[in-house]
Amino acid sequence: MGADVLHPGYFTAGLAETDPEIAAAIDDELTRQREVVELIASENIVSRAVLEAQGSVLTNKTVEGYPGARYHGGAVNVDAVERLAIARAGKLFGCRFANVQPHSGSQANQAVFQALLQPGDAVLGMALSAGGHLSHGASFNMSGRHFAASHYGVRRQDGRIDYDAVARLAEETRPKLIVAGGSSYPPAIDFARFRAVADAVGATLLVDMAHFAGLVAGGAHPSPFPHAHVVTTTTYKSLRGARGGIILGDDEALMKRIDAAIFPGVQGSPLLHGLAAKAACLGEALKPAFRAYAEAVLANARALAATLMDKGYDVVSGGTDTPIVLVDLRRQGLKGNAASDSLERAGIPCNKNAVPFDTEKPTVTSGLRFGSSAATTRGFGVAEFRLVGAKIVQVLDGLARDPTGNGALEAAVFVEVRELTARFPIYGAV
Ligand SMILES: *Cc1c(COP(=O)(O)O)cnc(C)c1O
Repeated sequence: MGADVLHPGYFTAGLAETDPEIAAAIDDELTRQREVVELIASENIVSRAVLEAQGSVLTNKTVEGYPGARYHGGAVNVDAVERLAIARAGKLFGCRFANVQPHSGSQANQAVFQALLQPGDAVLGMALSAGGHLSHGASFNMSGRHFAASHYGVRRQDGRIDYDAVARLAEETRPKLIVAGGSSYPPAIDFARFRAVADAVGATLLVDMAHFAGLVAGGAHPSPFPHAHVVTTTTYKSLRGARGGIILGDDEALMKRIDAAIFPGVQGSPLLHGLAAKAACLGEALKPAFRAYAEAVLANARALAATLMDKGYDVVSGGTDTPIVLVDLRRQGLKGNAASDSLERAGIPCNKNAVPFDTEKPTVTSGLRFGSSAATTRGFGVAEFRLVGAKIVQVLDGLARDPTGNGALEAAVFVEVRELTARFPIYGAV
């Protein structure tokens, strides 16, 4: 008796046949992704190859532990995959050790906390309100509930980290771990300076390069090595791969503790299909073409920032060294939530985002965050980003003039957006 008798079509029928509701939602999502100019900074568009790895039969496999030391049998192929991912991560970022199992960036950070700290230990990270990430000690996150977190911010006048203030805070709070990196901090971080601060108080330095990892990989941004003791990243933002996280380092003893913190500390079995997709994206990032992509991500983000500033919009820190452009809408009297809703209706999704010293609630905000990675992947260059910047200004100026009557303009811009994106097809022409 084959599976076909037990459940007809199980190994042969596609999703559209067996579950039209889910298939339709996925289909509609592909159409949406094809049509819009995706400017959400934490998104990208993976290659067909990465998609294939992510949707592979590795999803059927379960293992615990690390290559060569698993708790389940039948691991020979997934061992090969994980070894390749580790080797590629080390080669790409120029470090000796990598843990490629974190399910996400947050879990990568959680593992670092678990490996290096006891509950109640002092940590120092960037404030969420200044552009930090919630896994860097936010009060409602485990990193802030279980550890004594202090936070540094940015200077009011230029939106940049005040390194002297960080050094003073470190002296006062004596953290065991200092976290550098954020989710909406556009400038490059002075890793050497952070290391000096960490050394002065005997702290470990963690650099979380989630947003700019792709630029580091492509040589378009300084590397956190050799300054950082440990580096975490997501793999799906500028790095352009499957969803997940990675932890990198050079110190063998420290990285052994990190391995134990990931498994059995905070995770069980890894997502092996995701691991294969991470390996595939790391392989892509090692190819020469990735350098051109990384340079384009940066050039495009800067072109967008310049276009917005030319039209009277305030860009936090006056530009960017990363894929991120953070816009302060207070001069236009706009709120982040209304602005992002209007842009979404115009086919330009981005996200509302607090700006430094924002007085609006996190569900409202006074800012917008844009990222250049996804649109760069589909082939946009500086000319297209200037055009998109002009469209953003058109929509936002319209919203400022008439907060309730921007619909016709939004619809007109979406028509132009569709014309533009049709020239840069994803996953083959429709
Ligand atoms: C996106 C991000 C993460 C992790 O995000 P997940 O949603 O958990 O994958 C961690 N740190 C920073 C700085 C980020 O921007």
